[in-house]
Amino acid sequence: MKKDDIKIEHLVPTFKDARRRTRGDVDNINFELDPKYLNLGIGKKYLIQTYGCQANEADSEVMAGILEKIGFEKTDSPETSDLIILNTCAIRENAENRIWGEIGRLSHYQKTNPDLIIGLAGCMPQEPGVVERILKKQHAVGLVFGTHNIHLLPEYIYDAYLSKERVIQVYSKEGEIIENLPKIRNHKFKAWVNIMYGCDEFCTYCIVPYTRGKERSRLPEDIIDEVKKLVSEGYQEVTLLGQNVNAYGKDFIDLEYTLGDLLFDLDKTGIPRIRFTTSHPRDLDLKTILAMKELKSVMPHLHLPVQSGSNEILRRMNRKYTKEVYMEKVNLLKEHVKGISITTDIIVGFPNETTEDFNQTLDLVKEANFEGAYTFIYSKRKGTPAATFPDDVSDEVKKERLLKLNEFINAGFKKGNERFLNEVLDVLVDGPSERDEEVLAGYTPHNKLINFKGPKSLIGQIVKVKVTKALTWSLQGKLCQDER
Ligand code: SF4
Repeated sequence: MKKDDIKIEHLVPTFKDARRRTRGDVDNINFELDPKYLNLGIGKKYLIQTYGCQANEADSEVMAGILEKIGFEKTDSPETSDLIILNTCAIRENAENRIWGEIGRLSHYQKTNPDLIIGLAGCMPQEPGVVERILKKQHAVGLVFGTHNIHLLPEYIYDAYLSKERVIQVYSKEGEIIENLPKIRNHKFKAWVNIMYGCDEFCTYCIVPYTRGKERSRLPEDIIDEVKKLVSEGYQEVTLLGQNVNAYGKDFIDLEYTLGDLLFDLDKTGIPRIRFTTSHPRDLDLKTILAMKELKSVMPHLHLPVQSGSNEILRRMNRKYTKEVYMEKVNLLKEHVKGISITTDIIVGFPNETTEDFNQTLDLVKEANFEGAYTFIYSKRKGTPAATFPDDVSDEVKKERLLKLNEFINAGFKKGNERFLNEVLDVLVDGPSERDEEVLAGYTPHNKLINFKGPKSLIGQIVKVKVTKALTWSLQGKLCQDER
């Protein structure tokens, strides 16, 4: 096939299409690789840079799986790359600004390697404004695809190489479920397992429903088979992923099956540890809480984003619960799951947030006793309803509120660590600690980071460690005698 035979129409996203939601079944497609792409990457190297959430990390594992299936080899340096994919996040403005800077930096490598393709993937390409900017200004970017068509990567690379033209293919749609995707997992003992995709919550500040499509749950048997395979490969821990995992199964037409049911079934696979994220307070149900109570494999930690402690702000965020309902769920968790660790997400400086609204957030933080939180200053996202809300809160006040909030959160973090002093805990050993190669790092069932001395042969195993010191953000410990 000659270069001129290939004419590629750019496919650009629109918010109108991205907003659409219809009831009805979702297509479940089995990934199959067209043999004509099998050797496309022979002699070529790829580099994937991942930004943002666990969903992006899981998507990058799929991109790597597909690229290696068509012959590419992994590299860690842009100098030796023939294809660099930036798997991007659109949740906040500064995340996007970093990407524009990174494209500029990477474009210099095209001087020494003119065939180097720089690709943009993930949530940023799902924003119409981003694709316009790429078309007008970012000429170094030769490949753009979104969150709905990762499985078509071989075709896009084929077209890009053959046509020497830019390939821009971004779908704004509700989305399908693609099964049987190859993966190169980042870890050999803990794994991300998608259980659902997309989000229908439409919180007014959030771009995710527009970038990831409608809520669609994978079939239970596909998830259970994936976890069974991981168990057979010696994996110790799975984290079930979804933008709102508590809505798992709500979209099934003729099947009554929820996250709680899935947890009970996954427990039977023999996987030692199960975590799940991200939860939505409105959809957190008793069955899930009872699964956390009764199943030893389900870890006693829940990340439950609250975002604000003011009902007025929660209303304008379209979070669909009040602080009272949120606290009822927190108390139900604490009643059933003794010693559970609860962490959260909080946004300060939402448009027109009053001092009183903010104080109500601080009150809720105290009442809920969070043991950690991701805290952010509100970031306006073009295309979301909140981006049009009047905002009389100055940046200075927003920064002051974030500092104040972090004081409360750090106090909760430390208190949450101190309760484990002198306890012997089961730790899944992740690897060497970031600060000291001679020290190991791992996570306890309550998702506490702990550092301790021990042989590297313990990496990937669950070992007993006695807690000797509690710091604000981590624990220090001593490997128990019989583990040496
Ligand atoms: S639940 Fe809300 S904040 Fe979370 S991904 Fe969905 S829309 Fe965004």
